[in-house]
Amino acid sequence: MNDHHRVVVLGAGYSGMFSAVRLAHRTRRSGVRITLVNPSSRFVERLRMHQIAAGQELADHQIPDLLDGTGVTFVQGAATALDPEARRITVDGAGTLEYDTLVYALGSSPDTGQVPGADTHTFTLGSPKTAGRFAERLTEIDAGGTVIVCGGGLTGIEAATEIAESHPDLNVTLISSDEPGRMMGAKARAHLFRALERLGITLVTGARVTKVLRAAVELADGRLLHFDACLWTTGVKVSPLAADAGIATDDRGLVLVDATLRSVSHPEIHAVGDAAAIRMAWGRIHGTCQSGLPTAQYTADTIARLLRGRAVKPFRFGYFHQPVSLGRRDAVIQFTHADDTPVRLHLTGRAAVVYKELVSGSPLQTYRLSKHLNVTTIVSRGGRGA
Ligand SMILES: Cc1cc2nc3c(=O)[nH]c(=O)nc-3n(C[C@H](O)[C@H](O)[C@H](O)COP(=O)(O)OP(=O)(O)OC[C@H]3O[C@@H](n4cnc5c(N)ncnc54)[C@H](O)[C@@H]3O)c2cc1C
Repeated sequence: MNDHHRVVVLGAGYSGMFSAVRLAHRTRRSGVRITLVNPSSRFVERLRMHQIAAGQELADHQIPDLLDGTGVTFVQGAATALDPEARRITVDGAGTLEYDTLVYALGSSPDTGQVPGADTHTFTLGSPKTAGRFAERLTEIDAGGTVIVCGGGLTGIEAATEIAESHPDLNVTLISSDEPGRMMGAKARAHLFRALERLGITLVTGARVTKVLRAAVELADGRLLHFDACLWTTGVKVSPLAADAGIATDDRGLVLVDATLRSVSHPEIHAVGDAAAIRMAWGRIHGTCQSGLPTAQYTADTIARLLRGRAVKPFRFGYFHQPVSLGRRDAVIQFTHADDTPVRLHLTGRAAVVYKELVSGSPLQTYRLSKHLNVTTIVSRGGRGA
């Protein structure tokens, strides 16, 4: 093992946290030094952001506490520049950090830049702070007021149902260009639609928002829909850090990686989670925690093996479920093929609620166990690195 090898993990979200904790366990007593960099000391449970938006309080998990006993050094600050030739990172308020191996785990954030006015007039689930501001705004709206959720993907569905359940006096409208749940099988989708109806959510589908005004969204067909608060959940963007540094990225800024999740331009950089452009034989991985944790697990194992001079096999992953909460009292879980297309099996109601809660809580449980064990998060190896 390479003594005093410096590994820096950028981003302590789901993937970065797991990479750091697992690598620490796999390289314990070896002299490898691991540093984890993140702007906030609070670990953000993105899977639960819609709960904050609806006014619920979440547990405050502090990153230094999660790292306790691992030997990983935590540096609080945002990485503002990356020099891959000098292998150096500039961290806001914390100077520079040098690395031998870098794990790029900067995740993604809500994209409000594609539609005029979205940046100024909508709220997002980008951080506990912004979600909390939205929750506060909801408490200021009189009964009968309107909340619009833009985006009928899984995040929009979870947000709309959560808000409608906790604020039954407000009218919630979900605007979507596609039919919500279109990636699910017919039975799971039917359950989803029943839940939307039960919660009194107005569905506007086949609609594209072209502009957001102070108190209304404008649709492509010219309609204006008034709101008292608007939540934007349509799509995500990634940090420009890698592209700005000359690291090979795709046209959205995701780091292009080889079959072992190493940058195709800078192999000492490993990219994981939402920030990595990963291709399997069945297609491209889209950003989820479900795929992010396996990429982190694989990368920690790969770095440990490379430091021991061992060979590594290509990353293999397949999806196996789409877990969707429908408020606190209902949920729908669609089980899937590796390429995320539905199989016949799905869960609804109480069983689905319990399942979804296990999914949302599992990353923190995984970090705790990974201090002592090699816990696996790879359920399906249905894909082969292309
Ligand atoms: C409401 C909601 C519900 C979701 N539900 C599910 C679900 O049920 N199942 C599922 O699989 N996925 C779900 N997702 C998607 C999932 O949350 C993401 O795919 C996952 O968070 C990606 O993990 P990550 O580690 O790549 O990035 P993140 O978790 O976003 O972590 C990135 C980290 O990098 C940090 N960072 C950013 N910029 C910098 C910088 N310059 N310097 C240092 N650090 C930086 C961030 O602060 C953050 O801590 C959901 C998302 C949302 C919003």
